[in-house]
Amino acid sequence: MKIKKFNCIQCGAPKINPYASPYIVCDFCGAFTDIDFEQGLDAWNKNPKRTQKYTEEKVNYETALAQLFGKGDKNNYLKTQFAYWDFYYQMYPEYLPPSIQTEEQYKLYIAICADSSTNAAFDEKWAEKARKQTELQQKISYHFEDGKTYADTDAFFEMNAFFIQNTKDSFQEFYTNPKYQIMHELLPPDVHLKMKLSMYVQAWIPYLRAIDVHRLLQQTGFSTEYIELQTVNGKNQSCTFCKEELFIPEGSYKILCEHCLKINTVQSFFNCISCGMKNEITESPAKPMNCISCGTENRLIKGWF
Ligand SMILES: [Zn+2]
Ligand SMILES: [Zn+2]
Ligand SMILES: [Zn+2]
Repeated sequence: MKIKKFNCIQCGAPKINPYASPYIVCDFCGAFTDIDFEQGLDAWNKNPKRTQKYTEEKVNYETALAQLFGKGDKNNYLKTQFAYWDFYYQMYPEYLPPSIQTEEQYKLYIAICADSSTNAAFDEKWAEKARKQTELQQKISYHFEDGKTYADTDAFFEMNAFFIQNTKDSFQEFYTNPKYQIMHELLPPDVHLKMKLSMYVQAWIPYLRAIDVHRLLQQTGFSTEYIELQTVNGKNQSCTFCKEELFIPEGSYKILCEHCLKINTVQSFFNCISCGMKNEITESPAKPMNCISCGTENRLIKGWF
């Protein structure tokens, strides 16, 4: 059997377990490591009623935001942004990054999303870029062919190049802002960029010709490679949270339950390779750790590189 190729950006391990959500979590170190673009699309399309409800509410939020912006009411704009982000994740819990596991992390994350959206709207530099984006988007003409509407290739890719560069620039600014420091833990930049691009690509695909879809997926890094499914040794164990059965590959430290989307800790200690001392795993198991007794560097997840 062939599956999509994913290697963990933190520890390098391949994906072992089948997954049901669009976000791929490493079976060894528990890091949020990649996005399955097609699963994301399926999640979006699986419940048309939900999508309709979301689309209707979205209009209300956007209208309220436009009015508050017009009045220059930044305070209430921020509050509305918070409610809007919260509503989005209540509607689409499967889009919540799996690195957000507690209520406290959730509130922190939503607050940062709301704060950065507000600052981007009220900052002239980003507002100017947003206008340029809209302008490029309006330049795209649409052609009706074989019962489908297609966006003009050249104009689309001109807008696309601007969008990708602009997104990367805004990430650069966002992740170097000390106010958002915690985001490196909650949602690391690489995977965040993939998340953002995946949503954008998803929105455009219905309007593109097959050849343009291919080009877009290549540019955004969503073309997939397939590899043979590996079978590894391991054991079955029930999820600590929902009791669903999980397969835990040998050498795993943290694993996501695909049923309840909670991360289970498999091992929280390791024995030093040099002196045998029992050490607690305090950080990500993907990071090398120095033994508390002899100082030797231990690499917990290995053999996949
Ligand atoms: Zn990993
Ligand atoms: Zn579970
Ligand atoms: Zn040691």
